[in-house]
Amino acid sequence: MNKPFYALDKGELAKLLQEWGEPGFRLEQVLEQAYALRRHGFSEAHNLPKALRARLEESHPLRTGRIASKAVSRDGETVKFLLRLADGESVETVIIGAPSRRSVCISSQVGCDLGCRFCASTIGGKRRDLGMHEILEQFAAAQSISEERITHVVLMGMGEPLLNYANVVKALRVLTGRFGFGLSHRRVTLSTIGVVEGMRMLANEPLRVNLAVSLHAPNQELRKHIVPSAERWKFDDILAAAAHYQERTGRQVTMEYCLIDGFNDSAGHARMLGRRLKGTGFAVNLIPYNPVAGLEWKRPRRDRVRRFRDALAALGVPATVRREKGADISAACGQLRRRIDG
Ligand code: SF4
Repeated sequence: MNKPFYALDKGELAKLLQEWGEPGFRLEQVLEQAYALRRHGFSEAHNLPKALRARLEESHPLRTGRIASKAVSRDGETVKFLLRLADGESVETVIIGAPSRRSVCISSQVGCDLGCRFCASTIGGKRRDLGMHEILEQFAAAQSISEERITHVVLMGMGEPLLNYANVVKALRVLTGRFGFGLSHRRVTLSTIGVVEGMRMLANEPLRVNLAVSLHAPNQELRKHIVPSAERWKFDDILAAAAHYQERTGRQVTMEYCLIDGFNDSAGHARMLGRRLKGTGFAVNLIPYNPVAGLEWKRPRRDRVRRFRDALAALGVPATVRREKGADISAACGQLRRRIDG
């Protein structure tokens, strides 16, 4: 099978067009059309010659997956869809609207084998990594069904992006490239469970995207209970890699902390976390847990969330609480796929 279009790099495309006898200026034209808003296929690229459109569509299609299922939240702001891939696997993608932005949350693997105890994506393990084109297709599919322009990308869906490093980095280059989707690096965030070597490699890429780390506990001991990969990538090593990323890229790293009722949400946990993060310059994002059917964990009451945030603030560590979006459509990652594909 030929490579899908989004799996071709610029050099490969240039060579292909040359082999097809196309003039030199065609490369930019094709790239421009491929990454234009709401493009479903080359048949819509009317400023390309008809024969070329047909040939590209036939041999290197823009889309290899299709939207198999879609759910829209009651307020219309959150749209979650399941992208059915060419081999029958599926991934979840979520569009999240806010007054001044429209973000898309993208998956990097089909499932995940890291086994975080609160996560729906890991039930059933990892099926496979996503190709670069499948990561990009999620963005393109989201843009095609969104009335407004997608302004931000977060790699925070199913899977651990830094364990699919090569494909993710190639996709990030296209998302942020001039001959690509052209997003500002500042508007792209990669979220990791703390793959230390991947964080250090990413710091050396000329990408400078935002980095978020799923910390979820104030220390190594507690973290091990819900994040099995903590045995492999230790708490202190993760914080050191995050500090390195921050220093190297100039981007403030965000620590994501999922607040789970009665597990990691006490004022004592907040003080422990605050003391550990004080002076690091990291931002903290508190995420009240979105319950998953079949898992034991619960969301804390609002007053516990406020108390946690205030205890951090008292130690000089400012934290934001993530606004709950799309709870009525099971917006936590992995839940739609579970419901549809079982
Ligand atoms: S939270 Fe992320 S790393 Fe952990 S199991 Fe879920 S998808 Fe994998």
